[in-house]
Amino acid sequence: MSKENPTTIEDKLGLLSYNWDKNSHISVDQDKFKADKMNPKPITFVCPAKVYEEDPESGECIVNHENCVECGTCHVASPEYVNWFYPIGGKGVKYKYS
Ligand code: SF4
Repeated sequence: MSKENPTTIEDKLGLLSYNWDKNSHISVDQDKFKADKMNPKPITFVCPAKVYEEDPESGECIVNHENCVECGTCHVASPEYVNWFYPIGGKGVKYKYS
């Protein structure tokens, strides 16, 4: 698929550039994450950038913060165990067309 006419989420995410911060702007309370009885857990499917993954062995939440597109959905979906803030100034995603 041409990058000028992306149709999949992965294609669209590929258009973004980032100023990565090695320090995560996201933290997850692992005990509360594990205690969530929903299967799959909401943040593992509402995040458009697939930032959150449940480790099948430990049951802990893996956070790929470098992929965050700063939409804020996880903060609304699971505020009981997700602490999400915007990255510090100048860090994070850069939108090509905004
Ligand atoms: S703000 Fe949006 S893109 Fe970033 S981790 Fe939360 S749901 Fe995913």
